[in-house]
Amino acid sequence: MSIKALKFGGSSLADAEHFKKVAAIIKADESRRYVVASAPGKRYADDIKVTDMLYACFKAVRKKQDIEPHFAKIEQRYNQIISELGIDFSLDEEFAKIKYAINHYVGEDYIASRGEYLNSMILAKYLGFDFIDAEDGIFFKENGTFDSERTNDELSAILLQHERAVIPGFYGTMPNGTIKTFSRGGSDITGSIVARAVDAELYENWTDVSGMLMADPRIVKNPKVIRVITYNELRELSYMGATVLHDEAIFPVREARIPINIRNTNAPEDEGTMIVPFADKPNENVITGVAGKVGFSIINIDKSMMNSEVGFGKKVLKVIENHEICFEHLPSGIDTMSVVVSTSDIDAIREDMVNEMFRKTKADYINIEDGLALIAVVGRSMVSQIGTAGRVFSALGNAGVNIKMIDQGSSELSIIVGVNEAEYATTINAIYKEFVKTNE
Ligand code: ASP
Repeated sequence: MSIKALKFGGSSLADAEHFKKVAAIIKADESRRYVVASAPGKRYADDIKVTDMLYACFKAVRKKQDIEPHFAKIEQRYNQIISELGIDFSLDEEFAKIKYAINHYVGEDYIASRGEYLNSMILAKYLGFDFIDAEDGIFFKENGTFDSERTNDELSAILLQHERAVIPGFYGTMPNGTIKTFSRGGSDITGSIVARAVDAELYENWTDVSGMLMADPRIVKNPKVIRVITYNELRELSYMGATVLHDEAIFPVREARIPINIRNTNAPEDEGTMIVPFADKPNENVITGVAGKVGFSIINIDKSMMNSEVGFGKKVLKVIENHEICFEHLPSGIDTMSVVVSTSDIDAIREDMVNEMFRKTKADYINIEDGLALIAVVGRSMVSQIGTAGRVFSALGNAGVNIKMIDQGSSELSIIVGVNEAEYATTINAIYKEFVKTNE
């Protein structure tokens, strides 16, 4: 029988109503056998996620405050789900154990992980699936990084003994047996790990949107959903802030070449977005998406005859390295070189850095311009289409946008332009409209 691994996010498991939708989705397809659950998320805009309530317990106990008022609200959230689902189930013993542990100063990660642990127990009971604790099959190394090989071997052996199972997301075990969590949103990673361990044909990631959008809906009105995106394109877009999945969630499935399908729990009939290793069809719009970020600075360095000075670039980058800064781009001219960096990274050290750069490079002139926005136009189909860059630049010219920097990687997967932050939204809209036929 084919196998699908599924992950449901916090908003998909925030209350009993959503649990019912989740159960209907799982029961609609026999191959949906391994389910990763998040902790209950927000039910309405200013609701509090259970994970945040658990972090609040941790803070309270460190300040020697009574955790009871915080913990009572957590118990109430789970008890309400249980009673509205009408299942014969009690978490009282678990609540007592967790409260005891919190009051005896267990680590923050253990406390935070209990949100997914308890929610997964309820979901397993409601579905009639086995409950498998992530602490038994997901491992970290001594240095805190994820131990992918050990996890894959051991988790695979455990899961394949169970026909159907629910596994809590977000955490695993350190070599000394303590619980460690991934970073926030980490249940996406657990879903990917589980998909790889059971060699799933598909990893369905169920959330509250019908897929990834071609542009930020706060900037572009009603952007289209991306139907198919490759892992590499996703990496480029998410680096620029277009997030639909935790950044690290790609790696386990990528290794096993398992596609990911982003789906909407509240609109299960929507196809969502398929994230695939390779796409065989070109993209109908040429571009797959456009995304950007503000908050960059350009360090401009001028020196006559720079072009014939061996090792000039190395000296510049050494100074950047000495200040432990990552650079984004390195546009250069004949006697000029620029380094694009995040403004927040250089704020505290800009004077020292410029002085050191003058000393080490003997440059004629160095200045820093702030207020740069970077916009990435991403699309696998750009490789085969002559004139894509021309279309980007003329769209920006027609919109009156001054381009301050251009970068196209040799993979031809993206074109990156740097513009003034004030022109950020105009730039994204102009590019979107150039490539996507809208009715407006
Ligand atoms: N519950 C955790 C968080 O809020 C992990 C997750 O939902 O993926 O970050």
